[in-house]
Amino acid sequence: MGNEVDLMKALLIVDVQNDFCPGGPMAVPGGDKVIPVINSLMGSFPLVIASKDWHPKDSIHFKKWPPHCLQDTPGADFHPKLDVSKIKKVFLKGTANKDDGYSAFEATSANLRQFLKKEKVEDLYIVGLATDYCVKATALDADKNGLETFVVEDAVAAVNAKPGDGEKALKAMAHAGVTLINSSEIISE
Ligand SMILES: [Zn+2]
Repeated sequence: MGNEVDLMKALLIVDVQNDFCPGGPMAVPGGDKVIPVINSLMGSFPLVIASKDWHPKDSIHFKKWPPHCLQDTPGADFHPKLDVSKIKKVFLKGTANKDDGYSAFEATSANLRQFLKKEKVEDLYIVGLATDYCVKATALDADKNGLETFVVEDAVAAVNAKPGDGEKALKAMAHAGVTLINSSEIISE
């Protein structure tokens, strides 16, 4: 036990949605640039899953942020360039009238922690948007849940509301035990 071939690694794509990409109300600078990198990674993973920010129209979350990723609207759709064919399951988060849903582990449509356990996932690789918010919250939760957690540095992008926020977030994740890795290291494995 422990090192058999059926130990699973999974790729978790965080919030690669129209509203977080250039043109959206909460565009992450260069948010769409990570998409080809993410697409190129999918083939290296037996399991690919994704999260979506999925807010009700009236949420106190929007006291802090411009309205974004409203349930069942085009802004909440995955970016059209993201290859969705390999995504096995989507986890919806931020679904309540709260300032919630930064971490994919807060998803309410399905329990991410239980799902990963059932799928025997031990290594979780995280990509997507944005480094300094939802990627960070998700990676820290993954680590807390005992998963070997990786963040693919060239497959995430930061809001950088304050310059350096993205770098600071990466450092905080690394400090917590998350491994920062480059996509080229995964694809050549
Ligand atoms: Zn949100």
